[in-house]
Amino acid sequence: MIKGGYMKKILKVNLSSEEILTEMIEEEILRKFVGCWGLALKILYDSLPPGIGPLEPENPLVLMTGPLTGISLVPAGNQTSLATLNADTGFTAGRSHTHGFFGPNLKGAGFDGVIVEGAADKPVYLWISEGSAEIRDATELWGKDTHETERIVKKMVGEPKASVAAIGPAGENLCAGAWIANDENHSFGHSGVGAVMGSKKLKAIAVYGSEEVPIADEERLKEITKKWIHSLMFEYPPTKRRQKGGIARTEYEFLKKRSLVSAKNFTEVSPEEFGKGMSKHKITPKPCFGCPIGCSYDVEIVEGPYKGYKASLSGGGEGMEGAASLCGVYNADAVFYLTDLCDRLGFESSTIGSTIALCIECYEKGLLSKEDTDGMELKWGDPNLVESLLRKAAYREGKLGRLLALGPKRAAEMISEEALKFAVHIKGAGMNMHDWRACWGILFGQIVGGGSGWPAPGADYIPEPDLGIPQLQNPLEWRDKPETARKTGMKKYWDDSTGVCWFATWGVPNALVYTSEAVSAVVGWDFTPEDALLVGERLMNLERAFNIRRGLTPADDIEVSPRLLEPPSAGLAKGRSLAPHLRGMVMEYYRAMGWDEKTGKPLRSTLRRVGLEEIIQDIW
Ligand code: SF4
Repeated sequence: MIKGGYMKKILKVNLSSEEILTEMIEEEILRKFVGCWGLALKILYDSLPPGIGPLEPENPLVLMTGPLTGISLVPAGNQTSLATLNADTGFTAGRSHTHGFFGPNLKGAGFDGVIVEGAADKPVYLWISEGSAEIRDATELWGKDTHETERIVKKMVGEPKASVAAIGPAGENLCAGAWIANDENHSFGHSGVGAVMGSKKLKAIAVYGSEEVPIADEERLKEITKKWIHSLMFEYPPTKRRQKGGIARTEYEFLKKRSLVSAKNFTEVSPEEFGKGMSKHKITPKPCFGCPIGCSYDVEIVEGPYKGYKASLSGGGEGMEGAASLCGVYNADAVFYLTDLCDRLGFESSTIGSTIALCIECYEKGLLSKEDTDGMELKWGDPNLVESLLRKAAYREGKLGRLLALGPKRAAEMISEEALKFAVHIKGAGMNMHDWRACWGILFGQIVGGGSGWPAPGADYIPEPDLGIPQLQNPLEWRDKPETARKTGMKKYWDDSTGVCWFATWGVPNALVYTSEAVSAVVGWDFTPEDALLVGERLMNLERAFNIRRGLTPADDIEVSPRLLEPPSAGLAKGRSLAPHLRGMVMEYYRAMGWDEKTGKPLRSTLRRVGLEEIIQDIW
C-alpha cells in the first residue's frame, strides 16, 4: 500500500472543452512506472491516438513528478519530467526534464502531475494552487519573453513564490527547438516541447502549493540520505566542478581538455579562447529546491559591450555551446548574453544553434546566397549576427527566419542534398550539445536514442561504479559501447523516474542503492536496485515500442547525420571516427537489448520479461 511519496491525484485539463478533472493512478501502474519520465511515458503511450502529428490538439503534454520530488531530505529531489510526441523529430517519444521549484510546488498544490490536452482558441495560462486549477486569459502575455512572462504571471496570481513554466516567442511561433522555461534558470528542453505548448495556445503554467509530501518512514529516509549526501559531496569529483555555478567558475576547463567543446558546426574542436574570462564576471549560485550542489547560477557581466547585463543560466554547458561556440562566438560576455537570449526567446540552444551554424557553413560554401538570407552576410564569430538570427528565427521573420525555424535537418533538406552532410542532429532533433565525437559511449547512446537529449550516457565521460564500471572506459574504443549503452540506459531511465536531478545520481557511488532505498522509505514499498534497473529496462522497451509504432526503423539508428561520423579536425579524437563500426554496434546493441535485428522491435520474449506483455500486440 502507498503510504507516502505520492499526492494520489493528477490533474487533467482539456483546453478545447475547458474541462478540468482530477484522476487517480492505480498502485500497480505506479509500481511499474514509478513517476517523472516513466509515468509520463506510460500515460503518453496509452493516450496518444495513432496518426496524430505533434502540433495537433490530440497530442498531450504530460508533466509528471516522481515520488522523491518535493522532499527536502532527498538531495536535489525536485525533478519534473514531460512526455509528448517529439515536435523536432516528428515521430519519437519526446522527453524533457526540469528542475528548480516547479515540481515541489506542483506536489505542494496536491498533484503528482498535469496532463494538458486539446487547444485553446485564444492565449491562456493555467493557474494551479492549493488543490485547484483554473484556465485564465493570457492575451496580454502573448509575445512576451519567458522571463518577462514569469514576472508578470507571478503578479497576476499574486503569489511571488509561484513557479511559472512559460514559452517565449519561439514556442508561440511553433519553431523547432522551442522549449519551456521555468524558475528563471531552468527549462523543459529538447523535443520541441515549447512548440507543442504553443500549438495549444498555452502561454504558461503557474503552480504554487504548501502541502507537505507524506513520507512512509522518515527515520529510515534520513539514514539513507545522510550516506547519499556524503557520497555525492565528498566521494564524487564531478560535484566539485559543478558546485556553485561551477562550469563558469572553472572556465569550462574540464570539457575543453577532453576535446568536447563543439565549435563552428563541428568543424573546430575545443577552441582555446572559449571559456576564458568566465570567472571574472559576477557569479551568484542559484540552487534548486533541496539541492546541495547549486550548479545553476546568475551572472552579471562586469565588462565589455554587455556590461551590467544579468543572465540566468543553468549548470550544464550545452546551452552555452549551442548559443555561442557552435556559431564561432567564444568571448565569455557574449556567450553569457546569447545563452540568456535563447532562454528568453524560448529556444533550447542546441537545435537553433545547429540550424544557425548550418546556415553559416552553407553560406560560406555557396549553398546559400544573399537572396536566401534576406541580404545578410553570414559569418562565424559575430555575436550581433547570432543575436539577429535568433530573433529572426523566433519570429519566423523573412525567408531566413522561416528557414531557421525548421531545425537543422529540415532546413538542410530545404537548402540542398549537399547541405544534409553538414547538419548536426539526432533523428532530426538537436543533440545534447557537446562534440561527443571524442566520447563514443555518449555519442552512441544518443545515436540509438530517440532524439530527446540525454538517453544512455555511457561510461567514458563519467564512470558508473554501480554498474560494475568503476573506471572510465576508453572513449575511442567501440567494442564495449553497445553493452554500456544498455546498462547505463537502464540506470538513467530509472534515475529519470524517481524525482531526483540526475546530477545527484549520475556516476555517484551507490546511487542505485540510495535511490531504490529512498523510494522504498518514502512510499512504503520494498524496492531493490534490481527492481530499479528493471524499471529502467521496461521504459527503454516502452519508448522503443512507441517509436516503432510511429515508424522508427533500424535505418534511423544507422544512417545518422554524416557530420557526427566525420573525424574531428583536432583534439584527442583527431582523425578517428565511429563510422566503420556503427552498423555492427547497432546490431550488437539490439541483441543485448533483446530487440529484433531486422526491424529493431523489442522481441515478444523481451516484452514479457520486462512486464510489458500487454503491448506485444501493438508492434507484432
Ligand atoms: S544539480 Fe543543478 S540543476 Fe540539479 S537540482 Fe542542483 S542546482 Fe538544480
